[in-house]
Amino acid sequence: MTDTPTLGFDTLQVHAGAEPDPATGARQTPIYQTTAYVFRDADHAAKLFNLEEVGYIYSRLTNPTVGALQTRIAALEGGAGAVCCSSGHAAQLMALFPLMSPGKNVIASTRLYGGTVQQFNQTIKKFGWSAKFVDFDDLDAVKAAIDDDTRAVFCESIANPGGYITDLDAISAITDDAGIPLIVDNTSATPYLCNPIKHGATLVVHSTTKYLTGNGTVTGGAVVDSGKFDWSASDKFPSLSAPEPAYHGIKFHEALGPMAFTFHSIAIGLRDLGMTMNPQAAHYTLMGIETLSLRMEKHVSNAIEVATWLENDPRITAVTYAGLKSSPYHGRIAKICPKGAGGLFTVAVKGGYDACVKLVDSLNLFSHVANLGDTRSLVIHSASTTHRQLSDEQRAAAGAASDVVRLSIGIEDPKDLIADLDQALSAATA
Ligand SMILES: *Cc1c(COP(=O)(O)O)cnc(C)c1O
Repeated sequence: MTDTPTLGFDTLQVHAGAEPDPATGARQTPIYQTTAYVFRDADHAAKLFNLEEVGYIYSRLTNPTVGALQTRIAALEGGAGAVCCSSGHAAQLMALFPLMSPGKNVIASTRLYGGTVQQFNQTIKKFGWSAKFVDFDDLDAVKAAIDDDTRAVFCESIANPGGYITDLDAISAITDDAGIPLIVDNTSATPYLCNPIKHGATLVVHSTTKYLTGNGTVTGGAVVDSGKFDWSASDKFPSLSAPEPAYHGIKFHEALGPMAFTFHSIAIGLRDLGMTMNPQAAHYTLMGIETLSLRMEKHVSNAIEVATWLENDPRITAVTYAGLKSSPYHGRIAKICPKGAGGLFTVAVKGGYDACVKLVDSLNLFSHVANLGDTRSLVIHSASTTHRQLSDEQRAAAGAASDVVRLSIGIEDPKDLIADLDQALSAATA
């Protein structure tokens, strides 16, 4: 029943992956707190290791609680399969890992989460990979950036923190022509607001730390594969199309079809990189996802109310939120994220850096934290925190200039959030 694709989103977020426990009938998905699983016999063990039979070996690779979450996230995104891992950044690495090799590059949007800019700009160089950052509104520049060594194109559906919506249809037309997979980070939008696979994404990555868990309890990540990319169409993706020396010469695409990427991520990615999600984290995230649509509706309506109030306040010089009619990206909502532009936006405060720091210190209901997508409203001054290591140009490109504060609007009563902002703005701009 739970795999029926015709079920609605609100049903899938509760039921997908969560059949009653086959051993006990437990209605809630149990936390399988175990490292290993007893093989029926030596033949069963051999079949599992040969990927001839699907089952459990060791919890670095697979675990039933984590598996339930994988099934649920794949169902909500409309993917063939999903793999969970220990954080959103782990998910990004897991997504790139089967595609890249030394000398290869990824084309990335300039409008990305600050930590992703850091990971792509510096850390992946250790593997001999590189990233080229391009303005994804300049389609000719995206096309021109793709070269013979490009193995992926990466962007966010709704970009944090710039109030930006990527025209995924236009970008996926380019990646289709080039025969390159499109990876979309759907963290800020969630599958409730945006389905990147419907707009041509090959892979969708998540920081489940944010809205999917929803209450700031655990870190986690997920990679969802659409199952639609033909890895054998060129010789660019040998890990998936050619005999894989890291797994006794199996050809993943030939052997596993639309599940090739997912199985590669488990059999080699998790096995050798070890960025595994633990079953406790999966449990919290399964709980969170059950109410995803309800929370996202409230995050969106609160964000519109608070952003509209701020836009009309003389102490604010700009609000960058695609949910406002004044946003240059408002027109993309109907096409890309018809249920709304999410709960995150930035505001530019009169008085610049100093006023921003004062504002953050004066807020009471908003918590000053490096996080987003919590039931609680959160605030951060990116220039002095998450985007501190970036250059001024990178900060400006990411929508995190020094006079800008990012708000993650929670599910509280919006009039209380507005009152808190009102008193803090008075203190900050006095
Ligand atoms: C938080 C975040 C990440 C990184 O996720 P972690 O779980 O913190 O590793 C990546 N992309 C976006 C858009 C995020 O908000």
